[in-house]
Amino acid sequence: MASESTYFRKGFGLKSEVQDTLTADYDGQLVDLLLARGHTLVAGPVTIRLAKEFGFCYGVERAVEYAYQTRAKFPDRRICLAGEIIHNPHVNAKLKEMGIVFLGASGKGFDYSSVQAEDVVILPAFGVTIHDFETLRGIGCVMVDTTCGSVLNVWKRVESYAKDGFTSLIHGKYYHEETRATASQVERFPGGTYLVVRDMAQAEDVMAYIEGTFAGGKAAFLEKYAHAASPHFDPDLHLQRIGVANQTTMLARESLAIGEAVGQAMARRHGASHRAEHFRTFDTICSATQDRQDAVNALLQEPLDVMLVVGGYNSSNTISLAALCAEKVRTFHIGDAAGIDTATGVVRHRDLKTGQEVETAAWMPMDRPVRIGLTAGASTPNNKIGETVARVFTTRGVDLASIV
Ligand code: SF4
Repeated sequence: MASESTYFRKGFGLKSEVQDTLTADYDGQLVDLLLARGHTLVAGPVTIRLAKEFGFCYGVERAVEYAYQTRAKFPDRRICLAGEIIHNPHVNAKLKEMGIVFLGASGKGFDYSSVQAEDVVILPAFGVTIHDFETLRGIGCVMVDTTCGSVLNVWKRVESYAKDGFTSLIHGKYYHEETRATASQVERFPGGTYLVVRDMAQAEDVMAYIEGTFAGGKAAFLEKYAHAASPHFDPDLHLQRIGVANQTTMLARESLAIGEAVGQAMARRHGASHRAEHFRTFDTICSATQDRQDAVNALLQEPLDVMLVVGGYNSSNTISLAALCAEKVRTFHIGDAAGIDTATGVVRHRDLKTGQEVETAAWMPMDRPVRIGLTAGASTPNNKIGETVARVFTTRGVDLASIV
């Protein structure tokens, strides 16, 4: 670990100094009103139902507050951020306004070439890779580590797998900052190995390889998955003993199903009595992600015309929420309220299949009462949710003054 004077991960005791700024930057009056009225606002022909759990999670709140505290603590120092603090463009824009420099990606990690020993570098809520951490330690700058405790729990799990000679099979997105940081933790142990799978379809490839039925054999498997695995990954060697973990923001249901299915494949391959020698699993979905997914599932039991999901297009947990909603109701994942054009009735949103931004006309029924479901990813501040509510009402000609 870096020495105490250059490594901080427990705040600077400046919460009261930054609280007013945080409130001004992120709180939302309309969301407060929704909460006060049982997560429901009714005006004119529009009913808005907000999920019971939504928006900023404990890890994001902590990371953002810690970044504000860092600015207050080091008013005269150059402050850099490894990537994005969280995946929300508005929060990141606020930090830029405060003079915080965002470091871009470079090969294996972020580009620290401009960082000097007297600078301060904030590590984001997702954490950074071991390689990045060591690079910063080598520079000798101040590190302010906002890595979420729930991410650290996954790291511990992955470390224990590596220590015991198990390959970490990570349900996640291999390019996501959190998964890259998590995967790198296996390097703490010689021979530590990881493989990242995106979904059940990819997990099925792994199971097929374990059971000797993967079409094309080793070469084909490596061609498909080498980019998502440790450089030395050899499926013949490294799929013998597997421990399952996950990126904290994936669909919890899918993570559990993958763990269960891979365990069964191991039992078929090695015999049920030898399963424990070859397979371990641990649900590392964070409680905030789970709570938001549970809340949206509860909301989807109600009759809804449309579901709006607000959050950054690159926010993994927002994408997971949108995927859940789309199974049950017409769903639009919008980056923010600006995606709703109140004059034309067009919505700009992320297409759930292609990931591309598209526009859809007549997204909301205009000739009858409507019930709109609403939720937001863990990196979406309340003011952005409130602005969305305002635009929905305005689109249907409801005077906002009549609500508040
Ligand atoms: S989504 Fe979960 S792991 Fe990620 S910052 Fe929030 S609480 Fe932490």
